[in-house]
Amino acid sequence: MNEETRKLKRMSVFLPPSAIGILGGGQLGRMLALEARRSGYRVVVLTDEPKGCPAGQFADVELNGSYTDAALLGRFLELVDVVTAEFENIPDACLRAVEAVKPLRPGRIAIYTAQHREREKLFLREHGIACAPFRIVEDLAGLEKAVAELGRPCVIKTAAFGYDGKGQAKVTGETVLAEVWKAFEGAHAVVEQWVPFVMEVSVVGARGVDGSMAVHGVVENEHADHILDVSIAPARVSAAVEREALKLWEAVAEGLDYVGTMAVEMFVTGSGEVMVNEIAPRPHNSGHHTIDACGTNQFLQQMRAVCGLPLGDAGLRTPAVMVNLLGDVWPEPEVHPDWSAVLEHPRAKLHLYGKEQARAKRKMGHFTVVGDEVEAVLKEAREMQGRLKRG
Ligand code: AMP
Repeated sequence: MNEETRKLKRMSVFLPPSAIGILGGGQLGRMLALEARRSGYRVVVLTDEPKGCPAGQFADVELNGSYTDAALLGRFLELVDVVTAEFENIPDACLRAVEAVKPLRPGRIAIYTAQHREREKLFLREHGIACAPFRIVEDLAGLEKAVAELGRPCVIKTAAFGYDGKGQAKVTGETVLAEVWKAFEGAHAVVEQWVPFVMEVSVVGARGVDGSMAVHGVVENEHADHILDVSIAPARVSAAVEREALKLWEAVAEGLDYVGTMAVEMFVTGSGEVMVNEIAPRPHNSGHHTIDACGTNQFLQQMRAVCGLPLGDAGLRTPAVMVNLLGDVWPEPEVHPDWSAVLEHPRAKLHLYGKEQARAKRKMGHFTVVGDEVEAVLKEAREMQGRLKRG
């Protein structure tokens, strides 16, 4: 390594009490802020949410307003040393403005690619990373051609700003394409072949400034109404599926020259094929168990990667099950459920995100149960979930 490279490497390391800027104010930023402050960093949150947002509650400074407000962005950039993001739907103008002034980790291209399904799919295709066969369409004629080529059933998804199953529709034998297209009119859409998966899994891990990588292992995910319901770690998959999933995560991380924590969601088919469904350029809901079950959790690892520190030991130390707590289990928007089902258990942990108003489908918190054997932990977690739902 020559002197210049050494200098550059030094410049890319930020030690406490440097200030980490977080774009976004949700629970992922909150859990990052907690880890960063515990480690002695300062935290500055920029969010378009009102004052007192989940991440803002643990920040040294919370700035509220538009991501494209030049004056606000200017103040943010003056206060921070390095910047990361806790959600991907950030206007590109904001990412460009940040990157011009301070290190942005992950970089703009990684966020820009993962925030948009069309770009994401084209990236996967270009890098030879397995995913469902797809077509990009921009009008009804294109949709008809794509469906004829891919066959029914298939799925149509908006290219931009979709999450948790929003902005997508299943095309079955009966679907009238002209009817479906009305909801997508004017926008690019991605049409994907239907994957007859037997399991959905994800891999969450981090890549450092130096290209080193550490993953938390393969997690099995169950959804309800397109929203993550339960994550099971380790996933109950064969060694071959596990290897393939980890290989796909690494291919995505390297292809994006990624720095920070990243999640890749995947489908596993009956024949053991693994395909990438989505890339999240940030920590992920399916990595929340890492707080209670891994040597270094996904948020601490994000902090380490973003600050140019060596990555920590990410490995899973104990089987764990994470259960999401949506607003639906709150009896009233401001009345909390009776938490005793979770709090009574010596190996369960309750995590709440500081959101004042519970709404249906809103992610309010989660709980994690750990234990010696994954099936037994899952059974206990399900029982607790049932008790909470019954109220
Ligand atoms: P997404 O918003 O792309 O993560 O999709 C939400 C959910 O829809 C996934 O978790 C799957 O359960 C289902 N889904 C999405 N794409 C496909 C596909 N190509 N084949 C089968 N199911 C899919």
